[in-house]
Amino acid sequence: MFRLLTGLLAALLLLTACDEPAETEATAEQPGAAALAAHGEMFERRVLTPLPGVHVAVGYGLANAIMIEGQDGVVVVDTLESRPRAQQALAAFRKITQKPVRAIVLTHNHADHIFGAQVFAEGRPVPVYAHRTTSAHIDRIVNVLANTIYARSMRMFGQLLPPEEVLNAGIGPDLQVATPDLALLRPTVVFDGRMAVEIAGIRLELVHAPGETDDQLFVWLPARRVLLPADNIYRAFPNLYTIRGTAHRDVMQWVHSLDRMRDLRPQALIPSHTLPLIGEDKVAGVLTAYRDAIQYLHDQTVRGINRGLTPDELVEAVRLPPHLAGHPWLAEHYGTARWSVRAIHNGYLGWFNGDGADLDPLPATVRSRRLAEAFAAGRPLPEQARAAQQAGDHQWAAELARHWLRTEPDSDEARQLLARAFTDLAGNNANPNARHWYLTQARELRGDLQIGRPDPSELPDAMLDDLPIGAFLAGMATRLRAEETLDSDQLVRFEFTDVDRVFSAHLRRGVLAVREIATPDPEITIRTTTRTWKRIVTRKRNPALALAADEVSVDGGLIAVSRFLALFER
Ligand SMILES: [Zn+2]
Repeated sequence: MFRLLTGLLAALLLLTACDEPAETEATAEQPGAAALAAHGEMFERRVLTPLPGVHVAVGYGLANAIMIEGQDGVVVVDTLESRPRAQQALAAFRKITQKPVRAIVLTHNHADHIFGAQVFAEGRPVPVYAHRTTSAHIDRIVNVLANTIYARSMRMFGQLLPPEEVLNAGIGPDLQVATPDLALLRPTVVFDGRMAVEIAGIRLELVHAPGETDDQLFVWLPARRVLLPADNIYRAFPNLYTIRGTAHRDVMQWVHSLDRMRDLRPQALIPSHTLPLIGEDKVAGVLTAYRDAIQYLHDQTVRGINRGLTPDELVEAVRLPPHLAGHPWLAEHYGTARWSVRAIHNGYLGWFNGDGADLDPLPATVRSRRLAEAFAAGRPLPEQARAAQQAGDHQWAAELARHWLRTEPDSDEARQLLARAFTDLAGNNANPNARHWYLTQARELRGDLQIGRPDPSELPDAMLDDLPIGAFLAGMATRLRAEETLDSDQLVRFEFTDVDRVFSAHLRRGVLAVREIATPDPEITIRTTTRTWKRIVTRKRNPALALAADEVSVDGGLIAVSRFLALFER
């Protein structure tokens, strides 16, 4: 409460003092900082025992170390980022039990989970479990990209800042890692897919669950229905992209991994960051919101990409709906929706945003110089754009004309000038791809040419038939008019008689979650062949005629099916 009041007071002071020069130092009283500081209260250092025999060392490192107690030994899942931090966590565990460590599980290759492993082995040859690829991922981080990952991690985690400037790291108190303190143990027992083991009388299942990393696994204690989801879920917005730099993360794989966790109906969630959550309904609710948020961003970004939006435009257009944006496990204290949208665009289309003005931009130093000259000249933007054009400075003219057109979308002169600059850029270009791009975009700007969308009903039948039905339904999800379905909760079952497969499509507040499972009590059941369903969706076949010809049978009414179909863009 006190924190809230001081925050409010600070905000009032800021409002009344807005003519004063801005405060340059970051203070913990600013609203964003106050929210982050409040979030950080959970990282107070202690060992929690959310369930008998399950101990979680919170606040000792960026991640948690988890100790599961068996009859004659313990299993340690995740080992923190350094020797000193692991030593402190182990000392705390040793106050609870002296049973020897029988196994170590590394849930994935990230520093905050692996570099304390030697400490937990206590000098004995303890087996180290991990996914088959974890070791190769470690090689890449400690070898190929070491310099830049180090520098970028220092910036992202604030490790070189004065301690008072670090409130917390969103998923833990902070990262403290120094090269001499790395106490790595390489994995000795590796697996693909799934592995069941019994250690110290504890039955464990290790399940490969790509998401935050490709080598991620989760640990499942079947006897007690306890889930250790590693970093695929924690109480902060997921890092679908990490600004310290990472290869593309396939976010739909992440969603599928969360679905496999939901299928287990866990009684307890013991994540490797932030705090445990107990209770089947609570865990199900959190897992569902988390996977829905990721799928929403994925599907709506893809939908926007197909409408031709650039990454900057996608960031404006794709916002999580309020029930997800405001969910307590999705506050943007680690990843953000904005970075995720850009990463999804980048994952599908790479760095080029699709605008000719950005295809071969001026070198950064040249652009800065041009801007300095433009400001010094103090003339309006259109005038400068015209001058660049007349000077034969085509790329600068294109960049200025693009700014002009954004500020005056109805200006025909701006549009013509940009088209002219593109034509000039094409004129002396030896690269056919660039040349065609500029010339086509110039025609589009002049209104001589409009690129339509391919008509799915023109797809040759054989091509449509060859499309796997799972992929076809996933494609439907990326065309959902999410904004019209934010209050919808509807279950549609598909029974495809030709392939003898059943799919459930749960339309849940902006997301169409498609699973190959038979959920009970659907509002609509559609019984047909994959062939007919694809033809109906692509409008090669009229649904009413298909119904009359007995190619489809529907429980729930044809009108309901038509309404359902109307929720998707073509
Ligand atoms: Zn982590």
